[in-house]
Amino acid sequence: MIHRILITGGAGFLGSHLCERLVTEGHDVICLDNFFTSQKTNIQHLLGEPNFEILRHDITLPIFLEVDQIYNMACPAAPGHYQYNPIKTIKTSVLGSINMLGVAKRCGARILQASTSEVYGDPEVHPQVESYRGSVNPIGIRACYDEGKRVAETLFMDYHRSNNVDVRIVRIFNTYGPRMHPYDGRVVSNFIRQALNNEDITIFGDGSQTRSFCYRNDLVDAIIAMMNNETNFVGPVNIGNPTEFTILELAEKIIELSGSSSRLIHKPLPSDDPTRRRPDISLAKAQLGWEPKIALAEGLQHTLDWFQGIKLQDYRPPTPNYS
Ligand code: NAD
Ligand code: UDP
Repeated sequence: MIHRILITGGAGFLGSHLCERLVTEGHDVICLDNFFTSQKTNIQHLLGEPNFEILRHDITLPIFLEVDQIYNMACPAAPGHYQYNPIKTIKTSVLGSINMLGVAKRCGARILQASTSEVYGDPEVHPQVESYRGSVNPIGIRACYDEGKRVAETLFMDYHRSNNVDVRIVRIFNTYGPRMHPYDGRVVSNFIRQALNNEDITIFGDGSQTRSFCYRNDLVDAIIAMMNNETNFVGPVNIGNPTEFTILELAEKIIELSGSSSRLIHKPLPSDDPTRRRPDISLAKAQLGWEPKIALAEGLQHTLDWFQGIKLQDYRPPTPNYS
């Protein structure tokens, strides 16, 4: 069945892949973005397609559109991006969700929220299961993102219970791949950029903190499956790769794959940086029949190849360049 689909944040790293997949499947796709952390080049190759349309708009403001599915992906995701204007970040999650839930309610559309592993904060339960309620510092520098996303989940569930809106919630764990903003300050993009230029690789803290990295194709498969699941399962569901690495291990793998002569240097650990993170994906396996297929070395190789093909000067740093 062909759907009319709205993707907010559609020009971003994950949103642009989602646009590509859904346009290829023949759906009518509206990509809505304010281009805060992205640029038109991410979706330029889709501009000539008859079933693709782009709207410059900010989801903190209301909009009237006619659609049957909404992927609410709009929100700065990298710590440096969401801390750049923290008040705007929380408005994007809260006012943006209210506006998009309003569109879904008016049109009878199904709406999926891109939530995050950050709702678990610095977790005391490991690996993280969906029933764990999290440990977020509500007044820390990550709270604009974490608490915004937690309120967004609340809004989604309340629109579902009170107004019968057809919702889906996915909690995305660290995802990487081609088209990450090269200056977003996230660990994969920083390390790859530094390795390819033989610059020092910046390990924050001692590098013993862990993350579990999911390749973007696996992630996009999962969120499309969640949107189209016809059971009454609304989530939240963890989506991520359960193989856990320390940040030091990640740096060593990137040096090995790129043949770089970079050295490792240490910088202070930012406050509230979670010490460990790994999704329990049993629920996604049981409900969606999904699990990731792409191992870190393979995904990093694709990402390295993409970084080697881009011109860094084509990318406008939206925030001060971290390197
Ligand atoms: P991204 O920064 O590349 O994409 C976000 C997009 O949203 C950008 O194109 C940006 O310009 C747009 N945007 C931001 N504020 C907006 C607003 N007010 N109105 C309209 N557009 C706006 O980040 P991403 O990694 O592609 O993340 C996409 C979504 O997935 C985000 O909601 C993020 O919180 C979530 N997520 C991502 C990860 C990850 O590891 N990539 C992990 C957890 C959750
Ligand atoms: N990190 C690092 N060096 C960098 C960028 C990040 O050591 O140049 C660390 C960061 O402190 C965190 C982990 O890598 O522990 C993942 O950071 P990222 O910003 O990618 O995402 P997070 O999972 O913290 O939101």
